[in-house]
Amino acid sequence: MQTIGLIGGMSWESTLSYYQLINRQVKHSLSGFHSAKIILFSLDFAEIEHLQKQGDWQQAAEILIHAATTLEKAGADFLLICTNTMHKLADEVSAAVAIPLLHIADATATELQQQKITKVGLLGTRFTMQETFYKQRLIDKFNIDVVVPPDEQQALIHSIIYQELCLGIIKPASKALFLSSIDELVKNGAQAVILGCTEIGLLIQQDMTTTPLFDTAAIHANRAVELALSVS
Ligand code: GLU
Repeated sequence: MQTIGLIGGMSWESTLSYYQLINRQVKHSLSGFHSAKIILFSLDFAEIEHLQKQGDWQQAAEILIHAATTLEKAGADFLLICTNTMHKLADEVSAAVAIPLLHIADATATELQQQKITKVGLLGTRFTMQETFYKQRLIDKFNIDVVVPPDEQQALIHSIIYQELCLGIIKPASKALFLSSIDELVKNGAQAVILGCTEIGLLIQQDMTTTPLFDTAAIHANRAVELALSVS
């Protein structure tokens, strides 16, 4: 089994999900007492969130690169950045290490392609929904069209992620807002919706809607296990 390197803490609420999902999947695959070999570098999200707000992505990149190189030296065979948003810096992080970086959008898009989804809704932070680093990758690399909510809804979704989900707060009103946003994306042609923020799965689960949901934290974690177990 390969050793999985996790750059987490963004927020720790979702890193907890990764830890559980990865271990459950290893147990499911190998049974008995088997559990995952994981090295976790958990960052202080207050520092990252501050840098995001300041737009100081260079400093944020340095922090992520330090985590990545530390995990590499510690013996990780490959890396995961346990947040969609910070994949804005995926290329910089990847260039700083010799081990592979398992990209969250690639893992998700591969599943979408398997389900023959060609147009997908995307919910996440404003960075993820507005900027090109995520959407354009789905379009260019996987030929998947992306629809996002209107601006005012994006602002609400963004603030729920930071003011509630990253702090472990789950509110029924926010659940309702996300579900109506999912319905609207479907009306705009989405065949499925990406939960493109690793905390959204704490609020919204598949049994709450008939729209197929692609939970990036779960997909990323499962792909990590597949990779970790694919070598003998
Ligand atoms: N975990 C979130 C994501 O997947 C948001 C927190 C962050 O800014 O990294 O985008």
